Amino acid sequence: MPACLFCSAPLRHTVIDLGMSPLCESYLTREQINRMEPFYPLHVWVCEQCFLVQVEEYVRPEGIFTEYAYFSSYSDSWLAHMRAFADMITARLALGAESKVVELGSNDGYLLQYLVAKGIPVLGVEPARNVAQAAIARGVPTITRLFGRQTARELIGDGGQADLVCGANVLAQVPDLNDFVGGIKLLLKPGGVVTVEFPHLMRLMAENQFDTIYHEHFSYFSFTTAERIFAAHGLSLFDVDELPTHGGSLRIYARHAWDASTPVGERVTRLRAREESAGLDRLETYAAFAEQVHETKRRLLEFLIGVRRRGKRIAGYGAPGKGNTLLNYCGIRTDFVEYTVDRNPYKQGRFLPGTHIPIHSPEKIGQTRPDYVLILPWNLKDEIMDQLAYIRDWGGQFVVPIPDVKVYP
Ligand SMILES: [Zn+2]
Repeated sequence: MPACLFCSAPLRHTVIDLGMSPLCESYLTREQINRMEPFYPLHVWVCEQCFLVQVEEYVRPEGIFTEYAYFSSYSDSWLAHMRAFADMITARLALGAESKVVELGSNDGYLLQYLVAKGIPVLGVEPARNVAQAAIARGVPTITRLFGRQTARELIGDGGQADLVCGANVLAQVPDLNDFVGGIKLLLKPGGVVTVEFPHLMRLMAENQFDTIYHEHFSYFSFTTAERIFAAHGLSLFDVDELPTHGGSLRIYARHAWDASTPVGERVTRLRAREESAGLDRLETYAAFAEQVHETKRRLLEFLIGVRRRGKRIAGYGAPGKGNTLLNYCGIRTDFVEYTVDRNPYKQGRFLPGTHIPIHSPEKIGQTRPDYVLILPWNLKDEIMDQLAYIRDWGGQFVVPIPDVKVYP
């Protein structure tokens, strides 16, 4: 029986079983689509002791992260979000030339570049070599490493502890959660602050965002569970921001538990209460999620079948990890979606894992004039509908699959 990533209790309760799926960031070349492709169970559990929602680990992280196709800088709204964070946190913590900021999962330097521009000393820690190289090329000091207690000790030896340890969308991807949070505890200067952003489990469940579940995301956090995990490592959450990013995220603020200089804020108390009334501390709440997901699959297929029967053509927009979970779970291949497009040149000319839908550059949409564009990164739908407003010239319409199938003329 699998054991909980955090508390080691046996996992006995299924949240949703999404069947067999390939690694969602393994975009295939033309040669690779003729070979065997590994599929792994995508089975989500909830721990009856600590309520951590998690995917059993089938693949070692080295296999996932050595070459990673996700470059944060290809989304304009994500860049704007991180730029605003850089300004806010610099002011809030009075960061300057004497400070030290370490970002965990720093990707291509999308955030730290803004702090570098302010003259604040930074270091990025990024496990994917190709992505780390992109950060270094834009002047963001970065080491290629998985983060944990050992890496934290080395960093302290090199340059001391950090005033700010931050990370966005990294906590879910950590295979050894206790080693990771334990490393943060070591790396944090007395009086320092930790900020971590992650998709909010409460929103994932309420808004049916099951496609954000994939093998690369081991854990899915409520505020209450995150608080429990940080507390086990001597860190207290004293504030929280609710963010619109990735369908609804939390940014938690932590400090050393002994550091009473910052009291625990009212937003923390209020969010804990809301999670309790949403039933996140009861197993029945998690059990009800599966039926909602099954119904979404039926509705999406019904829509696509109807459109194809009328002889209309559908293209995809985007090749995000979440799209691959959705398409594989629903069994949607080129029989429904002819191709998809993505701004990331790494993905262009490749094929989606499992479904083998080809990925082109966005110009393909203007050339082929499809009747419908299925927006796979639905969290960016407003930005994408603006960029592709021209499809209305030929009567093209947008389709957003999550939280429910919706057509935008
Ligand atoms: Zn547990």
